[in-house]
Amino acid sequence: MSAFFLALTSYQPAQASANTFTAKPVRLGDNLLSILRQQGFSEKEREQVLAADKGLRTLFLTLDTRYLVRRSPGEVELRMFDSQTSDAFRILKKGPSIQAQAYKPNYKISLTRVEGRVYGSLLGSVLAKINSNWVATRFMDAYVFDMTSSRDVARGARFWFTVEKKYEAGQFVKYGEVLQTSLEIDGASVQKRFVRYKDGGVFFSAQDLSDEKPFYAPVEYIKVASRFKPNRLHPITKRLQPHLGIDFELPTGDPVFAPRKGIVVRYGNNRAAGNYIVLLHSNGMETSYNHLHRIDKRIRQGLKVSAGEKIGEVGCTGYCTRAHLHFAVKKKGRMVDPVKYIKAYPQQMQEFLEERVASN
Ligand SMILES: [Zn+2]
Repeated sequence: MSAFFLALTSYQPAQASANTFTAKPVRLGDNLLSILRQQGFSEKEREQVLAADKGLRTLFLTLDTRYLVRRSPGEVELRMFDSQTSDAFRILKKGPSIQAQAYKPNYKISLTRVEGRVYGSLLGSVLAKINSNWVATRFMDAYVFDMTSSRDVARGARFWFTVEKKYEAGQFVKYGEVLQTSLEIDGASVQKRFVRYKDGGVFFSAQDLSDEKPFYAPVEYIKVASRFKPNRLHPITKRLQPHLGIDFELPTGDPVFAPRKGIVVRYGNNRAAGNYIVLLHSNGMETSYNHLHRIDKRIRQGLKVSAGEKIGEVGCTGYCTRAHLHFAVKKKGRMVDPVKYIKAYPQQMQEFLEERVASN
């Protein structure tokens, strides 16, 4: 409780002055170039900004974030924050000169608590309380291994969570991690806590340690972009286009781990899957990994791998529009929903989580 209070009071509201930043909401249709245009950057100046730092070309802005503007005579400064990564940029126009570069914001963080009840879909009910896709999907990520469908949640079920709000120069600019969550599933409230680990972290409750699922998670940060949907209809063609695995959204280059001891049965590259690996495990089940940026050099047919061993890196090879790991599980020749078989955390976190539970 005291940490909560300290976080809330640890920043001072900015005083109005020539050096004050104003926070502007990102609006529908906004992107870096349209914002620069609104702020009076000429076409040539916009090109200079883009050329200054490669990262600016992939800057991703969503409606739940803000950017900062500071104006003084002959000078405009912008600060922009990527919605999905920790990337941030400073853009300065001073007379005829343009500077643009990545920088590390000195965020002040406060926690906010949100609560509600489920009417209609779970995702929709959370969005009705906090208008942020990022926050609502992080809440869903917390329960991805506890539910195979949001129908497991009854009408009127209670939920609450706390989420970080990040402030730069005294202004709210974006949400951070969802840290604590609670959701009524089958009448009992299931609570999770976000446990940071290296650069990532997982949503976790002590019960997850005794989970008897046969596989560990293949990644260190669980962010689900698409779930297993055996009967998915294509939205336009209305043809059946099943999604027979789960997509974990992660940056290119993030490690992919073997979720259990196994042996490499196939690996290679094809048009749809990109770089892929298939492992066979001692329980007779197969797991596969698609769109890899890199397959680990040691991977050979017949190679034995142990749980938690790095086998490749997340990427976007094959049919892919954004970096992710497509992870699939095959049981007795059929693709099954991976969330029924994998734990909420990778093997290398086991000991770390056990210690945390013991010390509580
Ligand atoms: Zn997929």
